Amino acid sequence: MKVHPLHIDTTACIQCEACVGACSYNALSMGEYPEIDADACQLCNACVSECPTEAITIETANVTTAHLSQYAGIWVLCELNNGAVNPVTLQLLGKACELAQQNNEIVSAVVLGACSYDACNELIAYGADKIYHANHNGLNTMLENRYAEVLADLSQCYKPSVILIGATAFGRGVSARAAARLQTGLTADCTELRIDNATGNLLQQRPAFGGNLLATIETPHHRPQMASVRPGVMQMQTPDFNRKGLIIEHTFDAALLNDGITLLEEHADTTAKQRIEDADVLIAAGKGIQGKEHIGNLEQLAGLLGGMVAGSRAAVEAGWISVAHQVGQTGKSVSPRVYIACGISGQIQHTSGINNVETVIAINNDPDAPIFEMAHYGIVGNAQEIVPELIQILRANV
Ligand SMILES: Cc1cc2nc3c(=O)[nH]c(=O)nc-3n(C[C@H](O)[C@H](O)[C@H](O)COP(=O)(O)OP(=O)(O)OC[C@H]3O[C@@H](n4cnc5c(N)ncnc54)[C@H](O)[C@@H]3O)c2cc1C
Repeated sequence: MKVHPLHIDTTACIQCEACVGACSYNALSMGEYPEIDADACQLCNACVSECPTEAITIETANVTTAHLSQYAGIWVLCELNNGAVNPVTLQLLGKACELAQQNNEIVSAVVLGACSYDACNELIAYGADKIYHANHNGLNTMLENRYAEVLADLSQCYKPSVILIGATAFGRGVSARAAARLQTGLTADCTELRIDNATGNLLQQRPAFGGNLLATIETPHHRPQMASVRPGVMQMQTPDFNRKGLIIEHTFDAALLNDGITLLEEHADTTAKQRIEDADVLIAAGKGIQGKEHIGNLEQLAGLLGGMVAGSRAAVEAGWISVAHQVGQTGKSVSPRVYIACGISGQIQHTSGINNVETVIAINNDPDAPIFEMAHYGIVGNAQEIVPELIQILRANV
């Protein structure tokens, strides 16, 4: 059943039609009073803000304490890319298992669209006790509105306590839309998740105020508790391919897929074939490398070590590397075995993306650069000289 919490108070409405003009989705039309097209409305709040007499409200469903007990289980929304399970899903299953142990709950993966037997097995091996599967041709393109509708439908039907979603481009779109439909909170880009032993609530930690402090956010009065986590932040657990799980096929009203969007063409992004989130070794460029012409050296070093080049936002803004290779708060969180930071100062917005790196090596000409506080090994000196020396040494020894 579709949630539709937009209300128009006809005693307060002055029929000015401001709301109709404010709606980007053509969800409001004017009869005697504004009329809502429930399928088109995205609960974006634009009409609420525009109404001069506060005649429009979006009702938030407060879950009473008695109702909280109806919600149980930890769900992970599975992201499939060309049929393959995105590693962030497996990482979240690892975290979900940890949380489930604390609350004595069941871990489930939610799979929307076509899914192979192998992919289901993988989800179970990495920790899912159950899989909720909703399939329909309309879910075979990654249109976020559709996924959000079906995820919300599943959630209303089975009432999970927690839903975890990978903070990929796709996951960000789905999580925000699903949370709005379910009228619950969503904490985006969490860096840690814990269960509060006293209340059983999910404690969702994320950087706030430009990364200068860590906020812990709770969703005490609403369910499900929704959080997104970037790739590379959580650890997968060791898979057990002997595990058994239950697959529940969920049927839903196909009208949920009527999102008014027609997919004309799909184009694969061929610019970023390899993802820095998956790299074992990253050589990261900072402003201190002082020019695009030095990226070639970093690429050579990366090639010798079987890695990739990444970088700071300053390096992206200078046009030396692409945004797909940016590490940090507004870039990617990475977890390679080795991260060599070349001419990177180590501001919190950058280092928040390398908390899970096994070994950080910093090259910086300033011995007081903050990067040395978190580096396992540090080289004080000119990156333009040190990187070529490292290349020479490696070439001589490989
Ligand atoms: C909301 C917000 C989000 C942000 N998100 C991100 C993010 O996702 N990722 C990110 O990286 N930043 C991000 N930033 C920017 C961040 O605050 C820093 O400005 C940025 O990380 C600095 O990049 P840098 O270390 O390459 O450059 P700089 O801070 O300019 O540091 C350059 C370093 O190189 C050293 N150096 C200079 N010459 C040499 C040399 N020849 N050899 C060796 N070392 C040398 C210097 O001593 C210095 O330490 C964000 C900022 C904000 C406000």
